[in-house]
Amino acid sequence: MPNRSEPTSEDAIGGIALFHDPRLNRSTAFSQAERERYGLLGFLPEQVETEELQLQRVLEQIDIKPNDLERYIFLSSLHDSNETLYYRTLMSDPARFMPLVYTPTVGEACQKFDRILRQPRGLYLAINRKDHLVEILRNWPEKDVRFIVVTDGERILGLGDLGVGGMGIPIGKLSLYTACAGVPPNLTLPITLDVGTNNEGLIADPLYLGLRAPRITGQAYDEFIEAFVNAVATVYPRACIQFEDFGFAHASPILARYRERICCFNDDIQGTASVALGGLIAALKIVGGSLSEQRFLFLGAGTAATGIAGLLVQAMVMDGVEKEAAGQCCWLFDIKGLIQSKRQDLADFQQPFAHEHDAIDEFTVAIETLKPTVIIGVSTVAKAFNQTVIEGMARINGRPIIFPYSNPTSRSECTAEEAYKWSEGRAVFASGSAFGPVHVGDKTFVPGQGNNVYIFPAMGMAIYATQAMRVTDEMFIVAAKALAEQVTQANLDVGLIYPPQGDILKVSLKVATAIASHVFDRGLAGVERPSDVESFIAEKAYVPNYPSLG
Ligand code: NAD
Repeated sequence: MPNRSEPTSEDAIGGIALFHDPRLNRSTAFSQAERERYGLLGFLPEQVETEELQLQRVLEQIDIKPNDLERYIFLSSLHDSNETLYYRTLMSDPARFMPLVYTPTVGEACQKFDRILRQPRGLYLAINRKDHLVEILRNWPEKDVRFIVVTDGERILGLGDLGVGGMGIPIGKLSLYTACAGVPPNLTLPITLDVGTNNEGLIADPLYLGLRAPRITGQAYDEFIEAFVNAVATVYPRACIQFEDFGFAHASPILARYRERICCFNDDIQGTASVALGGLIAALKIVGGSLSEQRFLFLGAGTAATGIAGLLVQAMVMDGVEKEAAGQCCWLFDIKGLIQSKRQDLADFQQPFAHEHDAIDEFTVAIETLKPTVIIGVSTVAKAFNQTVIEGMARINGRPIIFPYSNPTSRSECTAEEAYKWSEGRAVFASGSAFGPVHVGDKTFVPGQGNNVYIFPAMGMAIYATQAMRVTDEMFIVAAKALAEQVTQANLDVGLIYPPQGDILKVSLKVATAIASHVFDRGLAGVERPSDVESFIAEKAYVPNYPSLG
């Protein structure tokens, strides 16, 4: 766990304690002078290493681990012992390390959380301590926190209720805020709210570490969230809260309750919507036409579908389209068939997409009837985009846009290969989970991954740099457009509608610059507008160099 931001002369530490402070520890990179000055002689062999050599040793150790969970554990231990080297490792090859510190490996880590827990990292706020949240938040060693990722563990990825095991998500996500967009790690705080669990396997497990009781719901739950939000405002008034992996019943209502009151957002809803919008804007560079000339048909009508459809409508409205006409472009289809105005079972957030239409029970019939130009899968139903669906889309459209966004890979509505093969190489494709290149005839396609990591770290960086007072949907639209601008003609030529993940830091800083400029334009910033927003963002970005020992 981090001890503090920067050492001062009053609290200068030395000797063995220096190795136990992850922010100050340099391990074998302590110079001879530092070893002599800080009482480190004898703790290390005589060689002084460069950061490059340290990185080489880390990479060798990662390579010999037998599986990705072991690599995750190794990297977590590095995070706990030498923060700079941890971030240097992640930033040396983000495309390689993102899947190890976040999805998919973090899913298994959350499931085995009670077995692999090492050092404390982040705070657990249990509902039985509701009246003491301020004191607990004050236990955190950093006095200035700007970014909190919080989950209640109810809907962890596609894995369901993992109770306090969900803590892997805020930790992993905040690592990406730093590694992918340069948000300084000392300003971040992972939090898990423990309101019990409905996972009977966990309750029966003697090694489970959270409250052994069914989840609290209703008014008591709402009061706990309210107490949490107020406690954060008291202790960390400049912090932005990112709500993450809350269950279906809580995600949208929590966002609706707090978005106008505090600086907050929900990545599952808004980040997903933004990355999908960015992909669609880039896809239209291949297909031609504007958003309002498309017809979007979603398979699934839950958090992700309504989030994406809602942002699409707002993006069209920003481009001058009437709200009603924009809404008519989006059609949703769920487990009970087409969402339409005669259905009596719809939630409030589905109503805007309940257009007048007869009932349709079959997705293939919906395609033949509505003639969508785009299908987006957010249903968690593997193989739902079968050969009939893809061939139907390819019959109606010269370049059908096919986005199977469900995660993990085992839930994807189709594979990249299926989409390209069944459309005879005409599909414009992106997916939620990663797929490798596909060869059809003499062409090679590189499928893009609509990974929220293109959006949330950049959003975090922009919010931190501008001290934004609120997070608006417009900011997510600006982010999507800035993301699409990073896609080159060379990317488009191989069907890639997202920038390569290896470029994530560069891409994120551009996206953060665009968001920050918008925040200044809208008067939402808590700091004065600098003359050059791009340099302002770049100067604030964390660089994984060892801090001065004073
Ligand atoms: P959700 O539970 O809120 O919604 C799922 C929807 O699918 C519901 O409307 C349900 O009725 C519908 N559905 C279930 N079975 C169906 C069937 N047989 N036919 C038609 N519809 C069916 O879940 P969510 O949060 O919206 O997430 C959905 C999926 O999207 C998940 O797999 C999630 O991992 C994925 N997702 C991907 C990204 C991304 O890649 N960037 C981001 C967010 C969510």
